[in-house]
Amino acid sequence: MRRAIPLALLAFAPCAFAQTAWLRVGVECPNPSRVAALLDLPLTTYQCDAAPGMVEMAVAPGQLPILDFAGFRYKVMGKLHDPYDRRSDLVRPAATDYRNEYFNLAEIQGFFDNLALQRPKFVRRLQIGVTTQGRPIYAYRFSGFQTSPAVNPGKAYMFVGLTHAREWVSGSVVMHLGKSIADSLANAATRTLVGRRVIWIVPVVNPDGYDHTWTSYRLWRKNRRLNSNGTRGVDLNRNYAKGWGGEGSSGNPGSDIYRGTAPFSEPELQAVRDLAISIPNFSGFIDFHSYSQEILWPWSYTTASPPDAASLQSIAISIQSAMGGFGASYGQGQGSRALYVASGTSKDWFYDQWRAASYTIELRDTGQWGFELPSNQITPTQNEAWAGVQAFFSRVGS
Ligand SMILES: [Zn+2]
Repeated sequence: MRRAIPLALLAFAPCAFAQTAWLRVGVECPNPSRVAALLDLPLTTYQCDAAPGMVEMAVAPGQLPILDFAGFRYKVMGKLHDPYDRRSDLVRPAATDYRNEYFNLAEIQGFFDNLALQRPKFVRRLQIGVTTQGRPIYAYRFSGFQTSPAVNPGKAYMFVGLTHAREWVSGSVVMHLGKSIADSLANAATRTLVGRRVIWIVPVVNPDGYDHTWTSYRLWRKNRRLNSNGTRGVDLNRNYAKGWGGEGSSGNPGSDIYRGTAPFSEPELQAVRDLAISIPNFSGFIDFHSYSQEILWPWSYTTASPPDAASLQSIAISIQSAMGGFGASYGQGQGSRALYVASGTSKDWFYDQWRAASYTIELRDTGQWGFELPSNQITPTQNEAWAGVQAFFSRVGS
């Protein structure tokens, strides 16, 4: 077990004991300005996206006074496994079962490279960029037609994982999508499921950050850019151009939601952007994150409705219904309303560029385990995501 038994909930009060363990703490943020103030503190968030109400934070030993001094009320929700203790993940045999184990960066790349080797007619690898630390960023193209766009006029879709480094189950899910799509293409009886579609998967948008969660700090979220003030990382889901710089992002380089110095300043997103722009007939996009079990559609940068709200919601409801058959229940909604305003996010940019059917799917769970989802929940999460993608395909056309 990664996390110990939750402590009895403490009353909302400044901490009165010597804190020796990492704690998961719920912080009262009654309005947007308090959320913004909290996310500017030098602390680690414990949510993919924060909203007014209760915001969860991961607090290192000795850090609780930071919340006290900033005038926040909070309650301790439980202990956290020390995120700097990476021995249990490093000292392990190579993972072989992607349905029941988390794969590290090399293992995920090896998994997709094997798909391309085993099914060269249907799967191709393309290097789309290089990170600030020099790691390659790969995309994989899945199609029954490895021919020129003129010969294959099918609609194109993109699925991405591990934009946020600590959201490990998103990598497990895109592996299962890749395997399922490749298997469908290789079997004449199931090829119609994919049809004429061209499907691009970027399994690890953030290789530097993901490697860091395995080797150094399990709760790292951003990329590993060295910022001008010596801090590390830009939030890759605040660095897209649509609405960049607005509410729900931070100009403070130490923040977990730091937006970077300019739209698309980060090489990881330049790679994703340039690939998407090069793809004919771009029609849909899903960015997999965790946790909270929500299917989110544009906009996030504003509470105004998008022009296609009705159809975006209708497709989301189809995905939601398909994903609900595996023991977990998912919600859906416009990002800025279901959660809260966030500027510079992927789904807003993809929707704005092409009016594409564009979603963020927050995978399991709803908070019991959070980012450290036990490995026995990998398979059901993969199954429900693949069911959701099949429902998505049935709605968006080929
Ligand atoms: Zn996320």
